[in-house]
Amino acid sequence: MSALPRALTDSLQGLPGFREESFIQVHQSPERVTSIRLQTQKITDISAVFPQLETSPVPWTRSGYYLSSRPSFTFDPLFHAGAYYVQEASSMFLEEAIRQTTDTGVPIKALDLCAAPGGKSTLIQGALHPDSVLVANEVIKTRAALLADNITRWGAANVVVTNNDPRDFQRLPGYFDLMVVDAPCSGSGLFRRDPEAVEEWSRDNVILCSQRQQRILADALPALQPGGMLIYSTCSYSVEEDEQIMDWLAENFGMENIPLQLRPEWHIVETASAQHKALGYRFYPDQVKGEGFFIACFRKPGTPAAPPKIKAGFSSLPRKEAELVQPWLQDAPEMALMAHNGEAIVLTAPLAKEIPLLQKQLYIRKAGVKAGQLTPRELVPDHQLALSTCIAGNLPSLELSLDQALRYLRKEELVLENAAKGWNLMRFKGRNLGWAKILPNRVNNYYPKEMRILKAGLPDL
Ligand code: SAM
Repeated sequence: MSALPRALTDSLQGLPGFREESFIQVHQSPERVTSIRLQTQKITDISAVFPQLETSPVPWTRSGYYLSSRPSFTFDPLFHAGAYYVQEASSMFLEEAIRQTTDTGVPIKALDLCAAPGGKSTLIQGALHPDSVLVANEVIKTRAALLADNITRWGAANVVVTNNDPRDFQRLPGYFDLMVVDAPCSGSGLFRRDPEAVEEWSRDNVILCSQRQQRILADALPALQPGGMLIYSTCSYSVEEDEQIMDWLAENFGMENIPLQLRPEWHIVETASAQHKALGYRFYPDQVKGEGFFIACFRKPGTPAAPPKIKAGFSSLPRKEAELVQPWLQDAPEMALMAHNGEAIVLTAPLAKEIPLLQKQLYIRKAGVKAGQLTPRELVPDHQLALSTCIAGNLPSLELSLDQALRYLRKEELVLENAAKGWNLMRFKGRNLGWAKILPNRVNNYYPKEMRILKAGLPDL
């Protein structure tokens, strides 16, 4: 990679934990850290996913693992099945931060404000009580589409993907119990992985990012319930984006800093802001097995207000249509079914309750799991249903070889022997990849065109 900007290393002198020599060295080293987090509702055994690799747990998570080398995820059908999410290890510390600051034993309403591509959202979903509601928001439209795809792969029915500006959340005053702001930043923490970011880095951009972070926080904070928790993070080492933001939050919003407990063997560095002595946590790649990261937690002052009254109910699916959908779903009475533009949507019951309000105030890209299109006589199942964790376990399915699975994921023609006619789930190692319809003389591949594998090449798993 290009040399680290001198203005960056100079600006970090004297900061807690900054060791110039080893910091420069680790950026020059070819060593790369690869880590993934399992979707434990789909798979719990890491050795079944990467039997050919050595794996070791990421210490601050329950389902994160380091891999001994980087496989080609594109050519791993289990990646497309949403069995795991490829995520940088330091940022998985959000799980520990949530555990230490939030009661995960009760359902809450959470917002992931800057959510694309979805690493933190999938983590938050897995960490919270399953009856929680998670709004995963991304302001940039194209990135919101990518976020929606990754949430589809993850498969949970309690997530809403929105495409809103942070200020739009002011229409939901005091609504959320937890707000995660993984802010857009100057990106110095990712220099090792992304050499281009080195070229783009400048002091001026750090200042611009800091101002933007303040704007985002100021815009969104009214949507946090008094007493609610804000978790702020960046992948920047710059004080202007980290410690100074902590001071700014304390100064302007009276936000109460919540310290976290660290284990010494994690080698995460505690840092305090200059004015308010708020504590945040720095991750340096020469000390932790992961990339550069910063995280801090704050409680919003005040006592919680009663949640807003929701007047309108959601339009639940008429009984006849619900009967078409039920056989495709796990027998879970707590799921709600909703009709939207001729499609059937599956939502957890607590999310269904919130939908009318969210729909009124936000631009929803995706809510819960789309079960499929309703025709007078049948449900045409959707890809979201295939990848969801609420799909029935007894539907017709076909186990594919690696070669067949890759053909399927490229949306190529398939020849399948002994397949039952009609809708079949295409599976790999027992995990759903999507749908195919078996006709008397051919197989229709229903893998979504926009999600198909385009890259040429062979698996190097
Ligand atoms: N949380 C994501 C994850 O873990 O996968 C990564 C988020 S990335 C650090 C920051 C996100 O903020 C980007 O997706 C970016 O598009 C979005 N963003 C950029 N400008 C923004 C703004 N003014 N307000 C809110 N979000 C913004």
